[in-house]
Amino acid sequence: MGSLIKAIKMVSSKEELKKHNLHPQKKLGQNFLIDRNIANIIINTLNIKKSSVIVEIGSGLGELTHLIAAKAKKVIAVEIDTKLLDISKNLLSAYNNIEFINKDILKTSFNIPETYKVIGNIPYYITTPVILFLLDIIPRPVLFVLMIQKEVAQRLTAKSGSKVYGSLSIFVQYRCKVEIIKYIKKTAFYPQPDVNSALVKFTLLDEPPVKVKNEKLFFDIIQTGFMYRRKMLINAISRYANLGIDKKELEKAFKYLNLSPSIRAEKLSMSELADLSNHIKK
Ligand code: SAH
Repeated sequence: MGSLIKAIKMVSSKEELKKHNLHPQKKLGQNFLIDRNIANIIINTLNIKKSSVIVEIGSGLGELTHLIAAKAKKVIAVEIDTKLLDISKNLLSAYNNIEFINKDILKTSFNIPETYKVIGNIPYYITTPVILFLLDIIPRPVLFVLMIQKEVAQRLTAKSGSKVYGSLSIFVQYRCKVEIIKYIKKTAFYPQPDVNSALVKFTLLDEPPVKVKNEKLFFDIIQTGFMYRRKMLINAISRYANLGIDKKELEKAFKYLNLSPSIRAEKLSMSELADLSNHIKK
């Protein structure tokens, strides 16, 4: 951590809001980070170089923005709340490497020629839409770091056999290496959120970790398998999914792959689910 960063005073969200007679808006998930140690951990996780371009989702009053701007080539700060954005623009006027965008992140498109990374201390209710948005956005980021609800972080990193393993775990792990960097206490935020948090790093993979011939079929099987997670996978697919897959064909594939016919989706690893989808004849 450079001394420059240490020297920069963290914006005091509480005081700053008071000064402008503003209150944190719950409906916009405004829980400001007030813990400098956690801010430093976020900055370290981003591994910012002098050449880095960083997109920040929900820049708020600019607490993280200025730490990033001090290290990066450029910050693109996206904030939906015009009042907060204006305050942060003022506070950070000394920087000439911040582009402020007053928009909903989910309706923003980027024109970034370089590789870039994304950071977001985001409202928890938009976690899944933000992840899906970041997985699809072009050009794609190298990695994204998100502050999300602890339980969601555990679900996203879960492996087969875990109670919280689900279709979203597989969907995200098919595209990214997902790591929980640190669990974060409520006291790191003002106001304190209702739930505990985790800082999670998603590194986009160049190739999926398993070979899948038909991605639509693979994800259809996963979705149905977990939608009916208490049912045997064979029945879930043949009875409940509208996939037009014959039960006999399924039984053959299960047998060929040495899978018990009574197995449920939650017991199968991503690679077993890939094998299964690759061996089903439609
Ligand atoms: N980055 C600051 C603020 C985090 S609070 C910090 O770490 O302290 C979350 C921020 O996201 C708020 O400023 C909120 O206004 C903003 N926000 C909420 N929904 C958004 C959306 N759809 N697009 C962009 N910003 C959003």
